[in-house]
Amino acid sequence: CLAYFKSGNQVPRDLWSQVWDSMKEIEKATGQFFGNSSSPLLVSVRSGAAVSMPGMMDTVLNLGINQQVAEGIAQRTGNMRFALDLYRRFIQMYGQVVMGVDGSQFDEVMQDHERKSKLDGNAQLGPDDLNSVITNFKGIINKATGADVPEDPFIQLKNATVAVFDSWNTRRAVDYRNHYGISHDMGTAVNIVAMVYGNIDEMSGSGVCFSRNPATGEKKLFGEYLANAQGEDIVSGTATPSDISQLAIDMPDVYTQLVDSALVLERYYSDVQDIEFTVERGKFYLLQTRAAQRSPRAAVKTAVDMAEEGLISKDQAILRVNPTQIYNLLVPRLDEAAEEQARSEGRLLSIGMGASPGGATGKLVFDPDTAQRLGQQGISVILARPETSPEDMHGMLASAGILTSRGGTTSHAAVVARGLGKPCITGAESISVNTVAGTIQCGDMIASEGDEISIDGTSGEVFVGAIATIQPRISEETDMVKLLSWADEVRVLGVWANADYPRDVELALEFGAEGIGLCRTEHMFFEPERLDLVRKMILAAHDCNETPDEDCDQDFHTALDQLEKYQMDDFEGIFRVMKGRPAVIRLLDPPLHEFLPNYEELFEEVITLRLNGNDPETLLEKENLLNQLKDMREVNPMLGLRGCRLGLKFPAIYEMQVRAIVAAACNIVREGGAVHPEIMVPLVSHGNEMRLLRENLENTIQSYLKDRDCTLDYKIGTMIEVPRAALTADEIAETAEFFSFGTNDLTQTTYGYSRDDAEGKFLMNYLKKGIIPEDPFQALDRDGVGELIKIGVKLGKQTRPDLTIGICGEHGGDPSSIEFCHIVGLDYVSCSPYRVPVARLAAAQAALNLPKE
Ligand code: PEP
Ligand code: MG
Repeated sequence: CLAYFKSGNQVPRDLWSQVWDSMKEIEKATGQFFGNSSSPLLVSVRSGAAVSMPGMMDTVLNLGINQQVAEGIAQRTGNMRFALDLYRRFIQMYGQVVMGVDGSQFDEVMQDHERKSKLDGNAQLGPDDLNSVITNFKGIINKATGADVPEDPFIQLKNATVAVFDSWNTRRAVDYRNHYGISHDMGTAVNIVAMVYGNIDEMSGSGVCFSRNPATGEKKLFGEYLANAQGEDIVSGTATPSDISQLAIDMPDVYTQLVDSALVLERYYSDVQDIEFTVERGKFYLLQTRAAQRSPRAAVKTAVDMAEEGLISKDQAILRVNPTQIYNLLVPRLDEAAEEQARSEGRLLSIGMGASPGGATGKLVFDPDTAQRLGQQGISVILARPETSPEDMHGMLASAGILTSRGGTTSHAAVVARGLGKPCITGAESISVNTVAGTIQCGDMIASEGDEISIDGTSGEVFVGAIATIQPRISEETDMVKLLSWADEVRVLGVWANADYPRDVELALEFGAEGIGLCRTEHMFFEPERLDLVRKMILAAHDCNETPDEDCDQDFHTALDQLEKYQMDDFEGIFRVMKGRPAVIRLLDPPLHEFLPNYEELFEEVITLRLNGNDPETLLEKENLLNQLKDMREVNPMLGLRGCRLGLKFPAIYEMQVRAIVAAACNIVREGGAVHPEIMVPLVSHGNEMRLLRENLENTIQSYLKDRDCTLDYKIGTMIEVPRAALTADEIAETAEFFSFGTNDLTQTTYGYSRDDAEGKFLMNYLKKGIIPEDPFQALDRDGVGELIKIGVKLGKQTRPDLTIGICGEHGGDPSSIEFCHIVGLDYVSCSPYRVPVARLAAAQAALNLPKE
């Protein structure tokens, strides 16, 4: 495959002779012959990548059949329906996979015939219908491509092999690899395998089965079986199979072999297996086994269970769970009380199979492109389809949940959704999904495109309208708690949280945070009742700066005094919850105009008032405000008057904040409580900034402590957020007792990419073209930003060997960035509360995988 791609899609010279030689081996082993109509060998041409990508690449089954061979099969087996069913399947798959014909046209023909023959459930078309279907299929293919399906089995085999190579690069496969971070340059194997037939009679069939339940992790065989069918019918979701337990009744011997095989395979691979099998006239064939895709809950439960069963070690259990699955496990589910209410209001539309747990509310959409478009705008959507196919992958990625009217719990939709950790309902058969009209309907209840619906991926219930979601509590997730406690034993990095309010701090501690790494005090300024005060303070500061006088000075200090009280309460609340754990409080950071009305909007208001001319008083007030805003406007506020530059220009603001911090801390100390405030200065780029600010802040703190006769254990440190700070970290460390890498700004300033604009304006284009491999605002850029971090750590520790160093940019919750933080020897990572469990696991995995530098 790689040679094929490398030579510009030319098949290597010796490939076909090797294939023919191997085909001879198959013929010898089976006693059947490829292309021979009296004893025909049919094969499957299957993809097989090194990393399992369920359903993403192509496969052609029943290859080697043509009109003549089909007749031969009918004669040999005495079963015309069977022969024609094989031929129909082959033409459909070959037309779709090799000749690129849109599969929905085939589905329509099938449905048409099923309707006309009044077939329901999984009943099958007879020979006459199949003949008509085949003629129709051939017509569709010829019309779409101007060519026919080749009669020559060898040409079929060549073309199918190449098509499977090509399927490595289909959009869905590329989307899937991008999503899961799988390399694009591995290529796929092509496996050519003799067919066995699950569709030959009622003592035949196909099944998919998991050695443990892939949704819940329960240790019990889980799967589905469909008599007189090929596996594709189950995987594609076009038929609704029976539960695997039915096989125990119908064919007990086969069932026993399946159970035994699952056990052996699970022990051999020490992992949950996803097994495909076929039964041909009562004989059991194992087609394939692979590590099972599983829901986040199942991933955690099976890892913990297997460690406790002694099948794997605790370290293996830690490594087995993808940290983002932990995040998904804490995702919302529908609130039971709200569900009950919705049921009583008659909003329950239908019940399907709960195929992937979790709950979601979103706008109903029917096609994956719309799902992607709305999803990218941040709109929550539920994608409804009769069944999903791999072509829908991009829409599934962008949806909050997935609903299909057909298919079982091992269908494509179910498998993919579980892997993505999204709620999914399959086989909601009482719902008719009309993708053309844009409606879902059950009885007389109907929901149209754009309406809100809610799905419960655990119970399988579909509701009309929105339903409140609730956040699972980590303490209820006993397996996760256990796994994370094992992770805590091995990790070296501390895990702290970014939290601004006492309620966030409580959540962070519940999730296992050991400290607060970043409290952005400006978030407290945005509280509605405070914003007014903040505005007064800013405008007075601005006026005083222009023309100092007593009025503005008084306004400024009055506003500050009131804010100080609010801030003191906030900090006291946080310290109380923290009970002596470290809490890093960052002084005011953003440009001041962020707290003021939007300039353009105000400008429009003024123009309107001027034109109307009926409210001169308001006009004057707004004009004055507009003038003030105009003076404060900056061309590039992100690089302007913000961070410590603000603190140096208006020292009273930082003085107020540190007084509030120290006062809150002293209140706790007075009560006999423990408290460890760490005061953090943002956006330092020069040692002198830090030195001057520190002197000033120390003076304020010391005089306050003296006045209140309070002693306090506190630290003053800085963020490292611009390259110059990293490069001169030795000088900065002279007056900073700790560092915290603000990698949001450090990425922005290292790349020179605006963090507000880059992702929307050009970064996605860069990613698509492969100009840069990853979004540096999500995964830390080790080569650039990472080098600066290394320099910062080295220089900082040179001056102050006991310097505490952490990271509090968004990267602090990203597993690959956490690994980097481990390698360079940071003390802790700090991230949003919901990512704390993710970080605990990722830090443990880093410790198990990699030594520190
Ligand atoms: C940072 O820049 O990484 C940081 C944490 O600060 P903020 O995001 O508030 O600028
Ligand atoms: Mg910053």
